[in-house]
Amino acid sequence: MKASPLLAVDQALGQLLQLAAQAPLEAVDQVCLEDADGRVLAHDLVARTDSPPWSNSAMDGYAFRLAEAEREPLPVSQTIFAGTSPEPLAPGTCARIFTGAPVPQGADCVQLQENCRVDADGRVSSTVPLVFGANIRVQGEEIGVGAPLLAAGTVLGPVALGVLAAQGIDRVAVLRKPRVALLSTGNELAKAGATLAPGQIHDSNRIVLRTLLRRLGCDVIDLGAVRDELPLVRAVLDQAAGADLIISSGGVSVGDADCIGSFLREGGEVKLWKLAIKPGKPFTFGLINTVPFIGLPGNPGSALVTFLLLARPYLLRRMGVEQVEPLRVPVVAGFDWPKAGNRQEYLRVRVEQGRAVLQASQSSGTLLSAVEADGVLEVPRGKTFRSGERLDFISFACLVSPGRSH
Ligand code: AMP
Ligand code: MG
Repeated sequence: MKASPLLAVDQALGQLLQLAAQAPLEAVDQVCLEDADGRVLAHDLVARTDSPPWSNSAMDGYAFRLAEAEREPLPVSQTIFAGTSPEPLAPGTCARIFTGAPVPQGADCVQLQENCRVDADGRVSSTVPLVFGANIRVQGEEIGVGAPLLAAGTVLGPVALGVLAAQGIDRVAVLRKPRVALLSTGNELAKAGATLAPGQIHDSNRIVLRTLLRRLGCDVIDLGAVRDELPLVRAVLDQAAGADLIISSGGVSVGDADCIGSFLREGGEVKLWKLAIKPGKPFTFGLINTVPFIGLPGNPGSALVTFLLLARPYLLRRMGVEQVEPLRVPVVAGFDWPKAGNRQEYLRVRVEQGRAVLQASQSSGTLLSAVEADGVLEVPRGKTFRSGERLDFISFACLVSPGRSH
């Protein structure tokens, strides 16, 4: 039998994102900012106030009226601290002013205290020419009331939360969290901490995937590890009926024990299977009782890469996130790649002085070399390169977080 051609990664991702867009999680939660980290903004927000709300001094110094510069030295008519409300600047005077304090009406520049001389009578002159607008943060210069602030689909992180707080917003409408049912498959799997019987290994995929899912903002329904037996798989998956997504690892390659693959072909619907990706060729997407299903390969390195490059963007799009693709940064390859592959390859690399250094192990069976790597270098299929050529690098730091905003 002739093997079916492998589906290109870009095509698979395009299809996954389309499928995701057809199944959005529409419900909205109202949360306070303290609980909003990692949540996805449900609606576009516009600025409620000018920021800054009034013109203020960027420095400790003296506020002047530029037109009176030649009359220096000028007496100090008032001292303005942050948190106070000044009088208009009296003609023929200057004002002592501190960082964050409102600029008095009539003043149009602030001179740094280091550039001012105070004479014996307490009158102030500037030692360098005054400049119109200098050291004044003008009302609304960051954003004006009514202007677009944050768009629906923005992932709220510490900085975005600060932007909201600065606007006086303390509660925000976010999209609900997805419920993801997670299971491992394989007769060989033993629980973490259990003593291994002959032929057994510890289940590591489940803790990796569970942790990644939680970082992306999902509620995880942990269905445990299940043996490669169809009735058992069926019984476990029945518990996933209320989930937004089911994710499994193992059992999707073609072999006698590909229980998930057989289950899907028998009782579900396979939409994608076998991609031109390395590691991770057996990646599968389908439906089980109308619940979307992602079958990741069992090899820990393959499960990791396919989750991060395919399941992550799919999930984020379901969650309403706008920018689901990770940031790709060109880095210089620090090694030759003379042999073209027939799959798009994700190489584990460290980045040292802007050069990608290949990790010694690229085995799909190991996770340790991924822990020590900074991320992956994306090698398109059919590509060869020499040391010194630039390729796209994606950092693990970016891949394990829910978005490109922060
Ligand atoms: P499979 O995709 O089921 O053929 O599994 C491929 C390889 O991954 C085999 O060596 C499995 O023992 C291993 N594997 C499968 N599931 C897990 C898991 N949850 N944790 C660690 N290794 C696994
Ligand atoms: Mg297996």
